[in-house]
Amino acid sequence: MRTVYRCASAWIGSGVQHDVDIAVDDGRISAVTPVAAETRADVELPGVVLPGFANAHSHAFHRALRGRTHGDGGTFWTWRDRMYRVARVLDPDSYYALARAVYGEMALAGVTSVGEFHYVHHQPGGAAYADPNAMGEALRRAARDAGLRLTLLDTCYLSGGLAAQGHLPLAPEQLRFTDGSAEAWASRVSALSDDATTLVGSAIHSVRAVPRASISTVVGATGDRPLHVHLSEQTAENDACVGYYGITPTRLLDDCGALLPTATAVHATHLTDDDVARLGRARTSSCFCPTTERDLADGIGPAPALRAAGSPVCLGSDQHAVIDLIEEARALEMHERLVSHARGTLQPADLVVALTESGHRSLGWADAGRIEVGRRADLVAVRLDTVRTAGSLPEQVLLSAYAADVDTVVVDGRVVVSGGAHASIDVATELRSTITDVWRAAVDA
Ligand SMILES: [Zn+2]
Repeated sequence: MRTVYRCASAWIGSGVQHDVDIAVDDGRISAVTPVAAETRADVELPGVVLPGFANAHSHAFHRALRGRTHGDGGTFWTWRDRMYRVARVLDPDSYYALARAVYGEMALAGVTSVGEFHYVHHQPGGAAYADPNAMGEALRRAARDAGLRLTLLDTCYLSGGLAAQGHLPLAPEQLRFTDGSAEAWASRVSALSDDATTLVGSAIHSVRAVPRASISTVVGATGDRPLHVHLSEQTAENDACVGYYGITPTRLLDDCGALLPTATAVHATHLTDDDVARLGRARTSSCFCPTTERDLADGIGPAPALRAAGSPVCLGSDQHAVIDLIEEARALEMHERLVSHARGTLQPADLVVALTESGHRSLGWADAGRIEVGRRADLVAVRLDTVRTAGSLPEQVLLSAYAADVDTVVVDGRVVVSGGAHASIDVATELRSTITDVWRAAVDA
């Protein structure tokens, strides 16, 4: 059945067009036409309508740390210890309940596809669940409930860290992340299947957690599916990698065949010129997570250099201290201003591409991310009449709006968010109850 969405403004191609009807049949965009008096619109969308947003890097359960771990000093590594306390108490039921609420929050923020970098695979201590993919299946159900597509980036995680002397044994709290070998990881992942809204991909946690020979094994098992890897988020990773292998993490991944057009380097913060050239030459995506990178004092990566070299830049909310992909997009440009002392290195159209088309490419949903005939019908209406956005030009909405200004979200032709409310989930209530339960368990454990 055809649905016609009438838009006062919509981002089509590389800019805004006015008074446009977008027709949708069977979840796909079937026509994009100027408003005609004889056409009856089914839905009037307010503000400016953008293609769906992709959140290319998520650890859903990190949402439980929001508002509890950002004001107490420490380092990336002390934050990670707090995160492990939460990871220790999760089970398939609580992982599902928490992820369902978090993905609901993402839907409210305009996210139509999420890439979940999933490494909490097994029971505490490392024994498999009766279904060894019980935790991944929990994420699949959570995303389906929330109405967004999932790329399940099942993560290989084998060692506890890297020092100049070599890889370290896993700490007790890391045992549930590992399959013991890359071969065992590949065997478990091979039992996961795609469905209409789920795509199975893979991830190398980092060069800290996966030794060289196993990186090659993961690359071979992944084939042409999406492959993500945390890369050079902290200088300590680079120091350890150079100390042990004599080369940078990027060079190591390149030597192992991991830099592919289907691959994504997450963070890509501390890179050499040669690293940038390698990522660009391979057309490997770079996923920046600006609100996380500033919270964890990581640094600011070279987004303009990566783009110029050929690496598409996309965005993720990672630890979810903030779930606002508009803020991530804006921060890409604003952080660059602080580094370069120049304004406008990334134009609004560049930010839209990072938020939509490039993110969907990274997640393997190449038929999403643009308002164009034949594409998946993902639409995000951002209001231009709120206290934050009133007076804004539609072309500059990403520089003034916040997630709270998202009014309507359509995913594959289904209205998931309307009037700023989720169609089926009371998001704030579910976040509050699931996070309270997780911390109660963490304190008791
Ligand atoms: Zn991450």
